[in-house]
Amino acid sequence: MTSASPTLEVIRPGDDRYERVRHVYSATGSPAAVVQPRDARQVPEALAFARAQKAPIAIRSGGHGISSIATNDGGTVVDLSRLNRVEHLHGRRVRIGPGARWGEVARALHPLGLALSSGDSGDVGVGGLATSGGLGLLGRAHGLTIDHLVAAEIVTADGTQHRVSAQEDPELFWALRGAGANFGIVTAFEFDAVPTPDVAHASLTFLPPELSGFLEQWGLTLEAAPREVSAFLYIAGSAVHATIVYARADTTAASAALDPFAALPGLVGAQAQLVPYPEVPVATGAPHSGQQQLARTRTGLAVHLDRETSRRIADLVRSVDMVQIRSAGGAINDLPAEATAYAHRHQNFSVTAVAAGPARALLDAAWRPVHERMDGMYLSFESDHTPAGVVEAFPEPTLGRLRALKAHWDPDRVFTQNFDLSAPGIDPARTRASD
Ligand SMILES: Cc1cc2nc3c(=O)[nH]c(=O)nc-3n(C[C@H](O)[C@H](O)[C@H](O)COP(=O)(O)OP(=O)(O)OC[C@H]3O[C@@H](n4cnc5c(N)ncnc54)[C@H](O)[C@@H]3O)c2cc1C
Repeated sequence: MTSASPTLEVIRPGDDRYERVRHVYSATGSPAAVVQPRDARQVPEALAFARAQKAPIAIRSGGHGISSIATNDGGTVVDLSRLNRVEHLHGRRVRIGPGARWGEVARALHPLGLALSSGDSGDVGVGGLATSGGLGLLGRAHGLTIDHLVAAEIVTADGTQHRVSAQEDPELFWALRGAGANFGIVTAFEFDAVPTPDVAHASLTFLPPELSGFLEQWGLTLEAAPREVSAFLYIAGSAVHATIVYARADTTAASAALDPFAALPGLVGAQAQLVPYPEVPVATGAPHSGQQQLARTRTGLAVHLDRETSRRIADLVRSVDMVQIRSAGGAINDLPAEATAYAHRHQNFSVTAVAAGPARALLDAAWRPVHERMDGMYLSFESDHTPAGVVEAFPEPTLGRLRALKAHWDPDRVFTQNFDLSAPGIDPARTRASD
């Protein structure tokens, strides 16, 4: 068993700091050691330490994983929270550590007049989201978070450090943008951020008289909206809450774009205002105690919320605790499917079912009819891993290309925690819908 050098911070049970670092948002844990590299140069040592323990390894940035749980019982956690700098390099170019949270990133970029679309939560970490996609509230206007990545630094399984970009190891750079967790530990991301003055931010609440018809109209309204509009729906019981962002500080254009949404049936509450973008990704800063440990999710992508899909989602709402429908499309679909390892460039919606209580027992049965209407999956919203799920997240020819890269860069299968491309039983001919 390798011991850590005197300078590598290792937190073990019994240490005063242990309670603060053992858990994550979606799980409690009791790791034997949490190693906290001070900077990127210490990450190879942290990885070597973790590998030498011959026990489970978790890579943690913000600790908000759903598709991969960044803690374990009896293993090692490589905790990157100290690699959290947000630096302005020049022009629109920024360099961000994986341990920064998206709320902090928004606040740091705002004085520069810049923003990066990430998601609805400011507590989510940069490392997990920027290696898988980033479906955010500026998404239809600006694309996915990974679409703004111009270079990254990564420590691969053999402990070597690489800078990757379109010019340097371009295949690995391609793989990082969607399947990054399979290839190593990203220690820095360089993005070209987008000039973003204030944005219009609307919160609408509906009690729709008939949910299925409402969803169909919501889908049509969103697809017809200008691409400055991105919108997320949260449906629980009979209440539908919408968060809508118009990505420019133009109140006339924003209200014209928002009016069709406010005209949908059952509106009971509405507010809209121009806000600085940092007010969009909501951050609580709450310490991690496994607060969402009971939640299980199923997720998929949809091209349209057509009548049949909407009917099935309305049925699903009756069986689970929440359904979330996030907009995709717009600038996200400007790139071809082969541009990044995230290959879903024709869908307009992400649909996620959340079950946290007794509904967990019903989740698979309730999800199945909706799943049959789905076309691909964004892995970051799925709480359970199956070989068929890997096929949905990475459709061919992406999957074959990724699996060849995985065999090259991670032959010992060190990084298997997040939709493992080397898992046995992956059959490109089978998805969960065909099982
Ligand atoms: C409340 C909430 C809201 C969310 N909203 C959105 C949203 O609107 N849009 C969206 O796109 N996603 C959203 N997500 C999903 C989120 O993007 C993923 O869960 C993401 O993995 C979290 O990143 P993290 O760094 O906090 O995760 P962590 O728990 O730290 O890591 C999760 C996994 O990512 C991998 N990983 C983390 N850091 C690195 C790294 N540096 N290098 C390589 N692999 C790494 C590891 O496999 C790790 O186990 C949301 C999640 C939550 C909990």
